[in-house]
Formats: sequence, C-alpha cells, structure tokens
Amino acid sequence: ILKLEHLHKRFGRATPARDFSMTVERGEFFTMLGPSGSGKSTVLRMIAGLEYPDSGSIVIDGRDMTSVPPWDRHLGMVFQQYAIFPHLDVAGNVGYGLRRENLSREETASRISELLTLVGLEGYESRNVNQLSGGEQQRVAIARALAPRPAILLLDEPLSALDEKIRREMQDELRSIQQRTGTTFIYVTHDQEEALTMSDRVAVLNEGRYVQCDRPEQIFHRPRTPFVARFFRGCN
Ligand code: ATP
Ligand code: MG
Repeated sequence: ILKLEHLHKRFGRATPARDFSMTVERGEFFTMLGPSGSGKSTVLRMIAGLEYPDSGSIVIDGRDMTSVPPWDRHLGMVFQQYAIFPHLDVAGNVGYGLRRENLSREETASRISELLTLVGLEGYESRNVNQLSGGEQQRVAIARALAPRPAILLLDEPLSALDEKIRREMQDELRSIQQRTGTTFIYVTHDQEEALTMSDRVAVLNEGRYVQCDRPEQIFHRPRTPFVARFFRGCN
C-alpha cells in the first residue's frame, strides 16, 4: 500500500533519511523503532506530506504522492501531543474529521457515536475535552483521525506522554482498533517493548536508515547487526 523509494532528506548537518526505501503492505501494523534523532518523525512527516524529501519518491496505492499536498493523500495522523481542539466538545472534535464527507446531521451523529464506541468512549459526545484524562484525549484524537476512513493511519509516539499503566492498556486497544478497522498503521516509537508486542513488522532505524526490518520475533532473536542487538539488550 506504501512504497518509499530512495528517500533522502537533509537539514543542515542532520540527515534524517539516507537512501531510505521500504514497503508497507495493506492492513499491516508496521512500526518504525529507533533512538532519538534516528529520523523516525521525519520519515513519517514525509509520508504525511508535512515535509518534502530532497530526492526519492513516495508511492501510495500505486500513485506517486511525492509532491501531493497532505490533504490529498487520504492519510490520518496522530501525534504525541494530543492536538485536539480545547474549544470543541468530544463530538465536535471527532466531527471535525468528518467535515469533508458531506454527511447529513443524522449521519454525522451516528458516525461519531460509532467512532466513539470503536475507541472505547461510548456516550462521551458532549464531554468537555479539557476534563478528559490523557488517555481519553488520545482516544478522541484517534477517533478524529479515523473518521474519514483513511487507508493508512500514521502515529508518532501517541502513547509516550501517558503513564505506564494507561500506556499498556492503550497498546492492546490500538492493536484491536487496527484489527477491527483493517486500517494500515504506521507507528513510530522509541520503546522496544511497545514495538515488539504490537507490530506485524518492525523497522529498526539508526541515523536515517533502517538497519533491520523484520517480524518482531526475528528482530528479537536474530538481530542482524550489533546495533540492533545492543538496542534490544535488557528487553524480555
Ligand atoms: P525522537 O525520538 O527524538 O522524536 P526522531 O527519530 O523522530 O527522534 P527526527 O525528529 O526525525 O528524529 O529528527 C532527526 C534529525 O533531524 C534530528 O537531528 C533533528 O534535529 C533533525 N531535524 C528534524 N526536523 C528538522 C527541521 N525541521 N529542521 C532542522 N532539523 C530537523
Ligand atoms: Mg520523533
């Protein structure tokens, strides 16, 4: 569903993508894992169209999207900071994701309620988002991002601001949302355990390249380079 070909991106002295190529299959939970500064967010932002590569190409569903603006890529995105609108209630936030769908008032309300059920916030429509916990706010952001039914959802460390217990709950929840909707997830994290437990495949990034891209068991039991082995030491 997604093909990155020879992406290159430089910012002054930083080179967050060096001849970066990878393919993600439809319906996959695909994770990019790597230490801080390895280029994860930059690659994700290039897929989203929030950043343009210096060279290389981005193909989505067989269409060259390299220079297509973000709003025409039909992707959803969820960030670490919830980025929900504080002046709108829960329904208003999720409804924002439906603004381009031309739905009637009734259809909108029923889609919002469906989406809230999907993310475990049934009946939260009129709640004020400022009174929600971090985990609940992130669920609202996920519902909003999934509202236009994107084929691909991009997630940049969506759980890293949450505390341990909520984070674990949300890991299972995200995996289940991904499977129930059949959406392709491209997930960015620096948390090894998170990557190993949730993903179908993991790409381990270092300095703008991936050093290994494989199923979690393979990455964990058969690290292909000393960097990968070191990065996973201490996980179990
Ligand atoms: P983290 O885990 O800390 O989020 P990351 O893997 O997401 O790290 P990136 O944010 O992609 O890393 O950054 C990779 C490198 O590119 C860093 O050295 C960063 O400073 C640099 N960089 C990213 N965006 C820009 C920008 N807009 N302008 C200048 N430098 C940038
Ligand atoms: Mg980042």
